[in-house]
Amino acid sequence: DGMPGNLDASWNERASARDAAVGAFLQLDPSIGAADSAPSGPLAGTTFGVKDNIAVRGYQLTCGSRLLEGVVSPYTATAVERLQHAGAVVAGKTNLDEFGMGSSTENSAFRRTLNPFDRGRVPGGSSGGSAAAVAAGIVDFALGSDTGGSVRQPASFCGLFGLKPTYGAVSRYGLVAYASSLEVIGVLARSVDLTERVFATMRGEDPLDHSSLPWESAARPAAAKGGTRGKTGRLRVGLPRQCAGDGLAPEVRRTLEATRERLAGLGRPVTEVDLPTLEHVVAAYYVIATAEASANLARFDGIRYGRRAGGAVNPEELVLASRSAGFGDEVKLRILLGTYVLRSGFQDQYYLRAQKVRTAIRADFARVFESVDLLLMPVYPVPPFAPGSAEADPFAQKLADVYTCSANLAGLPALAFPAAVEAGLPIGMQLIAPPFAEDRLFEACRGLEKIFPSPEAPVT
Ligand code: GLN
Repeated sequence: DGMPGNLDASWNERASARDAAVGAFLQLDPSIGAADSAPSGPLAGTTFGVKDNIAVRGYQLTCGSRLLEGVVSPYTATAVERLQHAGAVVAGKTNLDEFGMGSSTENSAFRRTLNPFDRGRVPGGSSGGSAAAVAAGIVDFALGSDTGGSVRQPASFCGLFGLKPTYGAVSRYGLVAYASSLEVIGVLARSVDLTERVFATMRGEDPLDHSSLPWESAARPAAAKGGTRGKTGRLRVGLPRQCAGDGLAPEVRRTLEATRERLAGLGRPVTEVDLPTLEHVVAAYYVIATAEASANLARFDGIRYGRRAGGAVNPEELVLASRSAGFGDEVKLRILLGTYVLRSGFQDQYYLRAQKVRTAIRADFARVFESVDLLLMPVYPVPPFAPGSAEADPFAQKLADVYTCSANLAGLPALAFPAAVEAGLPIGMQLIAPPFAEDRLFEACRGLEKIFPSPEAPVT
């Protein structure tokens, strides 16, 4: 039937059974994409899940939204195409918070995804389906998008490595835009090695995305500089003092401390650094992200894109009815907020001010990276939470994005890694590097992985 040998009926059966337990996929069917994958190549024999805001020809592209229910993509994202050329096979499309907006995957219009470590907890988000798919052992790796933490936070909740590449390192062609100046396609996997191989396959310039950069020339300056290693030849790690204090759940604080000790044991003592702009990160992120979202989502009007509402008697009514019926509450809230901050006469007060804060955040990171090679930070201030808990509150979720969305505002690469399992729940930490210094992230995390590998989820 044209399927690679390892994807026979028993593969399908096992995958469907596991997916029934966690709800990771919106569409699970490797036969759709198999013909587009090379029969051999460096990633041959691997399967992957693709977040359903990334286009794969022949599969649906719903973005977790009612508005796009039933839409089938006529084309494939560049990042996916490169993986297919390397022999990897798309197994299906994974669940997400609608258009990537959220941190629990509860904002999907279609299904709940459960954390494979504890089905009473969320898998994180917005790439929660991708994380659950890998943690439940359905696929070898998965793609997500990271606009403000959506690869790293679910990776952390599900005991995985989660890479957010440098802005521009991976083509965004075929990624449905949420906030274009912040986002990038990233990888979730259970080993540093596979994460790195997938990234190496996807990255590099793409004529279809003018913000993408040629990897070799972009990465050369960072590699040539080699960082601040000093006499020991070891990477120097800094911990922003603003991350170490209040606001972390005890489990997360303990994990941060344990990680610090592991790094010291690996010959990488962690020094305290100052990142004062961190307190402005969430405010700047939610002004910029919603402003961009309000513009990017304008195309979903029931005319150009999106399901058309019936019964309207004029175009205004048609657009209003289609968007009212098609978008969920969180998406509507963000479109309203984004429209508010961009409204004429008030741009100075919100949007332009947020851009200035963003510039200050970038400068803050650049200054810190003059004395250290990597920054250690928590991914999320609390362990995987339960639906309906205080941590699940939409406003609490936004405040909790502080550690992840700082890297997006600054365009920096970051790698979340498994660092603890407390009361059966995975907790991750992250390392952040200067632009195009992903190699440093892999180098440091390989050492940490030997001490604390990706934990195995209870078999479902
Ligand atoms: N939680 C963040 C948000 O809701 C992350 C989104 C993302 O990275 N797609 O905006």
